[in-house]
Amino acid sequence: MYSKILRNYLMPFYEMLNKKELLRHLNEYESHLQWNAEQLAAHQWQELSLLLSHAYNTTSFYRKAWQEVGVTDIRDIKNLTDFSTLPLITKLDIQQHYAEFVSSKYSNNIRKSTGGSTGQPFHFEYNLESNTRREAIMWRGYGWLGAGLGEKTLYLWGADIGEKTFLKAIKNDLYHAFYNRKMLNSFAMNKNNMMEYIDQIYRYKPSAIVSYVNPLYELANFIIEHKIAVYQPKTILTGAEPLYPHQRETIQQAFNCQVNDTFGCREFMLMSAECRKNNNLHINSDHLVIETVNEQGQSVKGLSGDLAITDLYNYGMPLIRYLNGDRATLIETACSCGNPLPIMKSVDGRKLDIIKTPSGKIIPGELFPHLFKEFTCIQRFQVKQTTLDSLDILIIENTPLDILSREKITSEINKYTQGELAINFSIVNEIALTVSGKHRVTICEV
Ligand SMILES: [Zn+2]
Repeated sequence: MYSKILRNYLMPFYEMLNKKELLRHLNEYESHLQWNAEQLAAHQWQELSLLLSHAYNTTSFYRKAWQEVGVTDIRDIKNLTDFSTLPLITKLDIQQHYAEFVSSKYSNNIRKSTGGSTGQPFHFEYNLESNTRREAIMWRGYGWLGAGLGEKTLYLWGADIGEKTFLKAIKNDLYHAFYNRKMLNSFAMNKNNMMEYIDQIYRYKPSAIVSYVNPLYELANFIIEHKIAVYQPKTILTGAEPLYPHQRETIQQAFNCQVNDTFGCREFMLMSAECRKNNNLHINSDHLVIETVNEQGQSVKGLSGDLAITDLYNYGMPLIRYLNGDRATLIETACSCGNPLPIMKSVDGRKLDIIKTPSGKIIPGELFPHLFKEFTCIQRFQVKQTTLDSLDILIIENTPLDILSREKITSEINKYTQGELAINFSIVNEIALTVSGKHRVTICEV
């Protein structure tokens, strides 16, 4: 009911006042679900060609990088096969040549930071329309899972680090009320206050729950273990962490409700979302170009590879064939659910361990990238737990990590551990990679 009012009356009015075009983009993206695979591919290529000429003409990085591989006229890139010969870009390229990635035509971009899953604080930006489009894509995916615009939704999600001012808190509450959603801070949840979280869900009676995987899994275990009667939503969406089959089963059992996964990252937001019928992750191919490449940088299909992602609408800072650090397997089979968007068969390479405390508190690994991205003096970090009452933080510095920063980090972590873990900082020159060459942000060996 509210979702209809929001979409048909409140949002159009709000958008008129704010000169925003979320609904227009959402309607357009939703209409693409009626297309077939050929129409989607044709549309994707048309939008990609426009982006390529824009990047070639208005950024110095791409012009130079593409000229180096022999592309002197961007019109020579005539199809996806040609496209796959263009160089891949990494976070390091962006860190070293930041200004060269920003389009000379865009000066009012929105700047963002991420800890990502690589443990390296990272900055990037996008233009305003790109921001609206990513919101629209998110609402489309959430929509086909029953958590669309205006559906009463409870989020068990990581909250912002640091104290909020009173006014900011009120503004936040109003904003969430408008969208008909309630936020619970997953970072602050532990065994001692889980009953309060369950209670809040019961009182709010959401039709949908959207959550980080691990906190909801822990909550589900608690519910089953204590045989608690919980409020049963119509749908549950997870994200931000890999969802393992046993976790899906446990959450489904605890809430007596279907669980579906979503997959995204901060640079692009929602990349794919599962369908309810087959639990296949459908890729937003009308908004992004998603490829997988092998160790030699060649495109692969049907095999696990590094994700190379292109945002069709970030004209402010084009990200073209950008390796975001995740791995996945793409397949070309169509899904019987009727959604024509292509399928990501599995996400293969993300893992953030949870950190534990002696009294049973559980700290999701997501806290740490979130926390450390605020500190520009940190180039790379790893949080390692080898005993139940301590936490080692390994840091490669950009500039020396001063006492104040150490204290701030310690006090932020203590908020969630209540001081149960002794925190040790080590400044190091190197952090060992896993056997598969990935950097692990959190390692829990207890
Ligand atoms: Zn499907």
